[in-house]
Amino acid sequence: MPQSKQRAPAEPPFYARTRLPTAHGTFDVRVLVDGEGREHLAISVGQLEGARGLPVRVHSECLTSEVLGSLKCDCKPQLDAALAAIQAAGRGAVLYLRQEGRGIGLGNKIRAYAMQEAGLDTVDANRVLGFGDDLRDYAVAATMLEALGVESVRLLTNNPLKIEGLRDAGVDVEGRDPLVTGVNPVNRGYLETKRARMGHLYAPVRPEAGQPA
Ligand SMILES: [Zn+2]
Repeated sequence: MPQSKQRAPAEPPFYARTRLPTAHGTFDVRVLVDGEGREHLAISVGQLEGARGLPVRVHSECLTSEVLGSLKCDCKPQLDAALAAIQAAGRGAVLYLRQEGRGIGLGNKIRAYAMQEAGLDTVDANRVLGFGDDLRDYAVAATMLEALGVESVRLLTNNPLKIEGLRDAGVDVEGRDPLVTGVNPVNRGYLETKRARMGHLYAPVRPEAGQPA
């Protein structure tokens, strides 16, 4: 890789790096390309090298929520809350992985949505399409954390499978902090399915409650 004259050069395995001002504050953004050509982001605040118990959100791309404002899930509010949380903490990272629809891809997610319109929940719709409940791969996240010199993390998540997946990929996960936000009348059923059928860690999403406890 050619020597760069920029102030904050990208170091392998990252190929690009900059500071990015956003509505949440200014972040250090690095890009990594995986073996399939997908570009993943490490969005961070503060010192990462040698950090222990670093607040980290491993977030999977969700175009329908993050770009279109879809109310069928809670991805954009979770992403926004995670970015705000690491700014408030003065340190942390959001690893933004390009694995749409829990890894099944955008088109298949849209097909699953069509089945949900016909009455299936998110788990059954994926199974009808021949997919597992969660096909996400956390090796890229582990690679990024190791390259950044992060010693251990506290995950911002409600998903125990994500903790297991990252531990299996070699990440030292010290603990978990919940990230509950973005409940709306449309996604209540979806969130309740994630709790009841996929083991997500929050209180039952009650039909009338604005927020799970
Ligand atoms: Zn989503």
